Amino acid sequence: MSENRYDVIILGTGPGGITAALYGQRLGLNTVVFGDIPGGSVYMIENIMNYPGFIGGVPGAQFGTMAFQQAQSEGANFTLSRLESLSSSDGLFKGIDANKTEYLAPSAIVATGRVPKRLAVPNAHVKGVHFCSICDGPLYRGKNSTLAVVGNENAAAQHALALSRIADTVMLLCPGDSLQMDTAHINQIEKQSNIDVHLNTEVTGYKGLDIIDGIVIKPQGAEEKEVPVDGLFLAVGWRPNVGMLDIQVEKTAEGYLKTDEKLMTSFPGLFAAGDVRDTDMWQVLTACADGARAAKYVSEFLE
Ligand SMILES: Cc1cc2nc3c(=O)[nH]c(=O)nc-3n(C[C@H](O)[C@H](O)[C@H](O)COP(=O)(O)OP(=O)(O)OC[C@H]3O[C@@H](n4cnc5c(N)ncnc54)[C@H](O)[C@@H]3O)c2cc1C
Repeated sequence: MSENRYDVIILGTGPGGITAALYGQRLGLNTVVFGDIPGGSVYMIENIMNYPGFIGGVPGAQFGTMAFQQAQSEGANFTLSRLESLSSSDGLFKGIDANKTEYLAPSAIVATGRVPKRLAVPNAHVKGVHFCSICDGPLYRGKNSTLAVVGNENAAAQHALALSRIADTVMLLCPGDSLQMDTAHINQIEKQSNIDVHLNTEVTGYKGLDIIDGIVIKPQGAEEKEVPVDGLFLAVGWRPNVGMLDIQVEKTAEGYLKTDEKLMTSFPGLFAAGDVRDTDMWQVLTACADGARAAKYVSEFLE
């Protein structure tokens, strides 16, 4: 048997992948885990305030490192590199890393998360541009802020409504000529006196050196103008990380992996967990729960 043969190949070192490894090891599975940063996206969270058990929050980097070490202490094998491809033949999954090393297993869990889409502006990565109002909105509490939200779908509505309870003013900037969101959201937005909706308006630039302090907007048929803002929340879409999959599986129109109630994709033995999955909540807690359940169902599958 090859030395690179495992019970399960896990893709992702975020909360989903690490928890899958932790539970997998404790269920007696021999796991190998691919991914670069211990903790995945949690590394970007200054302070996780909504994970039970941590009064006052826990820095994302600390949470990720501790979870990583915990899974490692249970015997999970971390490569700290990404997989270039995952394919399947003869009942075995084959992962190939950047060194062209092959790893084999009869099951795999994809927990590769998703990346937010940014606007195509020159300084797109400036500080003060956010993607999660639940997570980062509270940074602006009590600061008499003006915040901007870009998007015109339900995610943008949720950002605008959540932020309207925190900021003095919320500008909802929609590129289209109508709000493409649930009627309930539209009604709530109309009732909220501090949300200003700007239809047919594009954001064409960010102002500020290190931290955003304004945006350039271009209303249709009008000149560009600068508007001061304290923060910007983007809801212009996400991209699930599935490019490494050389396996045909069912996905949503946006590319999220569809799973059954046991988190198995349409391809037998291939499971998905966390943000890459077709889910309704993209959070640390739900990714951890998915990881634990995926490991349990992998164990059942292998039996
Ligand atoms: C800025 C920000 C703030 C947030 N704040 C909060 C918060 O306060 N509270 C909260 O609950 N949630 C928050 N979230 C959401 C939370 O981070 C995610 O829901 C959670 O990390 C999802 O976990 P995951 O394991 O599914 O994916 P991720 O954490 O995104 O991890 C994905 C992993 O996949 C790996 N990967 C990608 N491609 C490959 C490949 N080809 N091969 C191998 N590995 C690969 C990556 O290296 C990474 O390790 C925030 C997200 C962001 C972006």
